[in-house]
Amino acid sequence: MNSILVVNAGSSSLKFQVFTTDAEGPTSTIRGQLDGIGTRPRLRATRADNTVLADQSYEPGQVADLAAAAVAAGTMLREKHGVSFAAVGHRVVHGGPVYERPVLIDDDVLSQLERFAPLAPLHQPNNLAPIRAIRERFPSLPQVACFDTAFHRGHTPAANYYAIPQHLYNDGVRRYGFHGLSYEYIASRLEQIAPAIARSRVIVAHLGSGASMCALAAGRSVESTMGFTALDGLPMGTRPGQIDPGVLLYLLIDKGMSPTAVQKFLYSECGLKGLSGISNDVRDLQSSEQPGARLAMEHFVYRIGLNAGMLAAALGGLDAFVFTAGIGERSSIVRARVAERIAWLGADLDPAANEAGVTVISRQQSRVAVLVVPTDEELMIARHTLVLLSSDAARNTDQRRTA
Ligand code: ADP
Repeated sequence: MNSILVVNAGSSSLKFQVFTTDAEGPTSTIRGQLDGIGTRPRLRATRADNTVLADQSYEPGQVADLAAAAVAAGTMLREKHGVSFAAVGHRVVHGGPVYERPVLIDDDVLSQLERFAPLAPLHQPNNLAPIRAIRERFPSLPQVACFDTAFHRGHTPAANYYAIPQHLYNDGVRRYGFHGLSYEYIASRLEQIAPAIARSRVIVAHLGSGASMCALAAGRSVESTMGFTALDGLPMGTRPGQIDPGVLLYLLIDKGMSPTAVQKFLYSECGLKGLSGISNDVRDLQSSEQPGARLAMEHFVYRIGLNAGMLAAALGGLDAFVFTAGIGERSSIVRARVAERIAWLGADLDPAANEAGVTVISRQQSRVAVLVVPTDEELMIARHTLVLLSSDAARNTDQRRTA
């Protein structure tokens, strides 16, 4: 049976999933990761029942980059396990001002996406490398790019612009917003599990190693805490979140840092890691008594609370608050502390439910429902890929009919 391969390429690892499809839509059957790329490459994959499908190490030179990683994963799946692919769906962080929905990749699309690399210098090149490698080997295999920015493209001009001269907006300097695949999935999941909430005013907090929040009005994104790049908004594992641009001028001019050094600093040395001086991982900070750890956690939940106020203003009120991603799904401590910060908006947490791992964690009388909804960006990519594949097949059939 033909499957869909979903690829999510990060800086030093490549995550992938294989989906089979039926009338119900895509179902994940294999998930895996190739990490240690260029250093100690190791490919691990499990089946849906968590049994091990592959655990294989490589010499550093065998898997030196993301392109090689995509080839290694694909080869393992095809040659060792007989998986054949109908299409590949990729997570691509930036669709720039051009793409407001997923797109079937051709040479023009690929060169357009390369032009957006300066908008996401640490992510976009990584996302594109596997696409190129697969295209070289399998030129006729359909590949689909799914963007983190696309879901936010319906924002109003007031939300989309920075207060800078408009020619820069025309150059692409806009408040794009990110984590769109996660928010789109959450909006679709709310439709299934809580349709009344899905149609109301909802804040979704995607709290992972990258973190942002999104205001959803009837399932559509109206505001995001992230902007031009994935640096803005909430403090994250290693990124500072919102920061006065004057700080950057200070680093460049007074501290004499190079632009590249500032870039590395902002993406890798700030956030929870920089502030705590201990770790970028919330698990470490939660279990530490060190003052730096406490301060970092306090700052994190404080900023989530502040941003909740901002997003509630964008929505003109609030009906529900949803936690998702690594921290949002797993840290009852962060959820409880954030709930305290948004009590004034009407959130009344049920502490027992918060510990119990259930979906609704607010009390029945809470004016704002508080939920935990696990995200699934890969499933969203598989769905989009399937839709584009079907429309592509339909177009080809039409063309054959009219030829
Ligand atoms: P990514 O953004 O890389 O996809 P995730 O959404 O998986 O990451 O989130 C990763 C983060 O989730 C980790 O950095 C860690 O801080 C946090 N995390 C994972 N498990 C827990 C847990 N049990 N308690 C608190 N935080 C957790």
